Amino acid sequence: MRHLVVASVLSWICVPLAGAASDVGPHARGLVEQSQAQVKVDPERSRQLAEQALQQLATQPDADLQVRAHLLLCDYHSERDREAAERQLAAARALVPQLQRRGLEAGVLGCEGALHEGAGDNARALALYEQGVALAEKAQDEEMQADALFNRGHLRGVRGEFSNGLADLKKARASFERLQMPFHVLTVENTIAILYNRMGDHVQARRYYESALKAQAAAGLQREQAVTHYNLGRSLENLKEWDAAQQAFDQVLKLSRELSFPRGIGYALRGQAAVQNARQQPAAALALLDQAADLQKTLPDTRLHAQIQLQRGIALRLLRRLPESAQSLQEALKIFSSGESLAEQAATHGALAQTLAEQGDWRGAFEQQSRFKAASDQLLTRQLDERFATLKVEYDNTARDREMVLLQQSQKAAEHALAQERLAGRLLTAVILLAAVLLVVLGVLLWRHRRTSAAMRGLAMTDELTGLPNRRAALTELEAQMAKPSPDCALLLADIDLFKAINDNHGHLAGDQILRAVAGAVRAIGGDVTHSGSACLARFGGEEFIAVLPKTALDEAVGAAERFRERVAALDVSRHTPGRHVTISVGVTRLVAGDTLSSLLRRADEALYAAKDAGRNRVVSRVAPVSVLDPIDAEDDATPSVLPA
Ligand code: GH3
Ligand code: MG
Ligand code: MG
Repeated sequence: MRHLVVASVLSWICVPLAGAASDVGPHARGLVEQSQAQVKVDPERSRQLAEQALQQLATQPDADLQVRAHLLLCDYHSERDREAAERQLAAARALVPQLQRRGLEAGVLGCEGALHEGAGDNARALALYEQGVALAEKAQDEEMQADALFNRGHLRGVRGEFSNGLADLKKARASFERLQMPFHVLTVENTIAILYNRMGDHVQARRYYESALKAQAAAGLQREQAVTHYNLGRSLENLKEWDAAQQAFDQVLKLSRELSFPRGIGYALRGQAAVQNARQQPAAALALLDQAADLQKTLPDTRLHAQIQLQRGIALRLLRRLPESAQSLQEALKIFSSGESLAEQAATHGALAQTLAEQGDWRGAFEQQSRFKAASDQLLTRQLDERFATLKVEYDNTARDREMVLLQQSQKAAEHALAQERLAGRLLTAVILLAAVLLVVLGVLLWRHRRTSAAMRGLAMTDELTGLPNRRAALTELEAQMAKPSPDCALLLADIDLFKAINDNHGHLAGDQILRAVAGAVRAIGGDVTHSGSACLARFGGEEFIAVLPKTALDEAVGAAERFRERVAALDVSRHTPGRHVTISVGVTRLVAGDTLSSLLRRADEALYAAKDAGRNRVVSRVAPVSVLDPIDAEDDATPSVLPA
């Protein structure tokens, strides 16, 4: 709504007449000045006067006056007819090289910027206003500079750069005060109020507008009153004071109709529609928006279009015309996004989220809601930051000193907190380190414990002299075999023959060596059976050895026992027992269902003693008696299966 507010700040009423203009008839100059004076009072009259001035200047050219008249007309048309405004701009620009008052070129840039702003290209507009500020400053033209600063300050506010915008506006106000241009001071103050409104300080903005309205009414500035009523309406909209907002927009409509001010009418209708939407009267809102849209078509004002679309979107959603609602809101969003109008963007994302949610498009609604949140957060941060920056600029020295003290205090507090935090951090590090060391130590201990207990378990299961598994290991293995659902294993029990005599004749140490040598032969049994990997070959005690052979049939076991016997008999033990061979007797049997450990061992023992009885150095097998026998094994008998070698 920039142009509504801004109107033209171009005024040269109080500027001393340029020397070069002295040969121009006072009539043309007077017309330009009257036109300028009417800008804020009666725009139509202002336009007529400027056009008359240009007719006169056609015969008596004066570049400065002509440019001023063209700029007045550019300002008039920029709110109504873009092409007409562009024609005025082109005419003014053509005269720039002939200007006596160089600062007027800043006005040309301002007019061009206003046209871009109307088209929604705020970035381009800002660049032009910036050039205008620089140019007027260089030309030392305070009024043109104030004008350019005003344009730039307002646009910065639209973009959310509140403190920069405010700084521009305050400079402009000071200049207009110095130049004794009270109407312009008023316009600038209104714009400051708009900034307060955008910064979220609606109460302060409202106060500004209400006092401005009194001054404008006293001065008879009808057009400006329409603008201020509208801005007041926006603040009230933000404060959700709908009755008061309605009154303000009604005033805008009344004044704008009196002034034949189509743009004012368009904005008033938008405002009334917003109130109807808030009152859940979407049909009424839609009717107002249709009127506003008809008017907007003839106006070069993209933002008004977007604002109408936003309210349309809300009204259509309330009427459950959801696809149309989404379409309107998308269109508004496009314009607000390219214009970088953060507050409007946030509002539109929020409205679109609601429409999509009602359409059942949860994913879309969620995305819009997230964007709404992001834009609102960004706006809030900016409002907070900018308010803080503004405060800092405005504070006097005392306040600043106070602030410094506070700052120092808070700095000290922050340092203290930081020191505490560091200490806590160090402690934490120490604790973490200690915990880590503890963990490592525990880990090592655990590992060593595991290793030791594995070694202990190994020792407990191993025979020290021969390194073979011991009796405990063999019994454990036998129990495991017996626990199986269908037991299947053979057993060899071997005893060295006449071992006592070896000890007696050659000494105990020689006996030990023989035991070791026989242990070697025991180990070789593994190679004689099919399932060698699961065989358990152990020293059973004294000069007895045992072999537990899983999944081994009796004849295979007997074969293995026979080879074992032969291997022992072939051992060369002459180093330990010169002139003597070692022999063994072996008993063989099979585990059957119903066997206990003792029945099994007894049977093996009986076979072994049968071998001893039969003359030693032989293998005897024995099967289970019928009582514990399964039907297949029952065919065998307890007879020596292998005769002595
Ligand atoms: P048989 O043919 O009837 O088995 O006669 P044997 O002499 O072998 O039987 P006996 O049971 O009388 O003798 C076993 C001997 O084994 C008695 C014991 O001193 C000896 N012995 C037991 N353990 C060890 C040992 O670890 N080292 C040595 N050197 N001798 C042992
Ligand atoms: Mg013995
Ligand atoms: Mg013996």
